[in-house]
Amino acid sequence: MFREETIIQKEGYFGQFGGSFVPPVLESPLARLSEAFNAAKSNPRFIEEYRYYLKHYVGRPSPLYYAKRLSELTGSKIYLKREDLNHTGAHKINNSLGQILLANHMGAKEIIAETGAGQHGVASATAAALFGIPCKIFMGSRDAKRQKLNVQRMKLLGAEIITTDQGTASLKDAVDVALGYYIEHPDSFYLLGSAVGPHPYPTMVKFFQSIIGEEARKQILEAEGRLPDSIFACVGGGSNAIGLFSAFLNDLAVEIHAAEGGGEGPGTNRSASTLVLGKPTVFQGTYSYCITDADGQPTTAYSIASGLDYPGVGPEHAHLKETGRVTYHCITDDEAIQAFYLLSRLEGIIPAIESSHAIALAAKFLKNKNQLSIINLSGRGDKDVEREMEHE
Ligand SMILES: *Cc1c(COP(=O)(O)O)cnc(C)c1O
Repeated sequence: MFREETIIQKEGYFGQFGGSFVPPVLESPLARLSEAFNAAKSNPRFIEEYRYYLKHYVGRPSPLYYAKRLSELTGSKIYLKREDLNHTGAHKINNSLGQILLANHMGAKEIIAETGAGQHGVASATAAALFGIPCKIFMGSRDAKRQKLNVQRMKLLGAEIITTDQGTASLKDAVDVALGYYIEHPDSFYLLGSAVGPHPYPTMVKFFQSIIGEEARKQILEAEGRLPDSIFACVGGGSNAIGLFSAFLNDLAVEIHAAEGGGEGPGTNRSASTLVLGKPTVFQGTYSYCITDADGQPTTAYSIASGLDYPGVGPEHAHLKETGRVTYHCITDDEAIQAFYLLSRLEGIIPAIESSHAIALAAKFLKNKNQLSIINLSGRGDKDVEREMEHE
C-alpha cells in the first residue's frame, strides 16, 4: 500500500532515491549536520524558537485566500496559499530561518548558500543578518544579470556575492561552485535552498517547509469543512511543493499535481522538466531524476524562471513520481507568462514567474471540473516585472 511506501525506508532514502553521494571530506560535516538536525527537531525549545520567528518575523500563518475571479473563470473553487506575503516575498524564508537557527545552535562562523532567482540568496542573507553570521552567496553570472534587484538586496543585507561564469552561469553552476567551496571549508554551514542534495538536506528542507501544508490543511478545513479535491505547486528542486504536499500525501482522495519548467516545450531540448523528461542518476550528492545528455551525463536545463532552471530535482519527488502519488506536468514559458498576466489582472496579485507555472497548470487542469483546489503561490513577482517590461 502507498501508506507504507511513503515511510522513509533507510535514513535519507525515499524508496530507491536519495542517499548521500559526496567526497569523503564532506561525510563527517554532513553526519554532524544530520545529528544536530535530529536533536533540534525533537527539542521543544528549538521548535518554539523556530515558530516564534515564523510568526513574528516572517508573518505566518500566511493566508489561504479564496480567488473568486480565478474560480469563476475556471469553474472550480480555487484557494491560493499566499507564500508571496512572507517577509522577503517567497516560501524560501521558512527554510532559511530553520537552517540559520540550526547553524546558530551549532556555533557556525560562516554561512554559504547558492541562489538561482536570488530568492534563496535574499532569504539566506536576511537570516544571516538577523543572527549576525557572515554570509557568502554563490550565483551564476547570467542569473545575477537577470535578477539585479535581488543582487542589490543581498549586498544591502551585508552578504558577499560570488558570481561564476562556469557552464551556463545559472543555478546548477552556482551549486557546483558552492559545493567546491564547502569541500575546501567543511567548517562553514551550507544553507541549501531546496529539497535536493545529499542527506540530510531533502529531509531537513521538507521539515522546515512542511509548515505550508500544515497551515493549508487546517485553513481549508476551517473554510470549507473538507479536504480539497486537488492541490498544485511548481517544482524546481521541489521545496515549496513538498512543503504543501507533505500534509496531504496520506489522503489518497486528494489529487496532487506539480508543474515543472517546460521551457520552450517538449522536443525543443530547452526545458527544465526533470521528472517528465529526465532519467534517474546521481547528481549533486543524491540519486534522483536529472536531465541528461545522449551519454546519460547530467546536462544543463532551461526555463524562463530562474528558480526552476535546474536539471535536478529532490529525491522524494522522484519517489512520488514512481509510486504515482504525484503527477508531474510540463508547463512552457509561454503558458507561465500568460498565467503571470492572468493572476495579475484577475486577482490583483503579481505572482513570481515560478509560481505562474502552478497557476497555468491549475487553470488548464481545473477547467469546468467543479473541484475544490489549493494552489501554492510560492512567491511574489516583483523580481519578474523588469523582464516582462523588456519583452513588451
Ligand atoms: C526558488 C523558488 C521556486 C522553486 O524552488 P522549489 O525548491 O522547487 O520550491 C519556486 N517559486 C519561487 C517563488 C522561488 O523563489
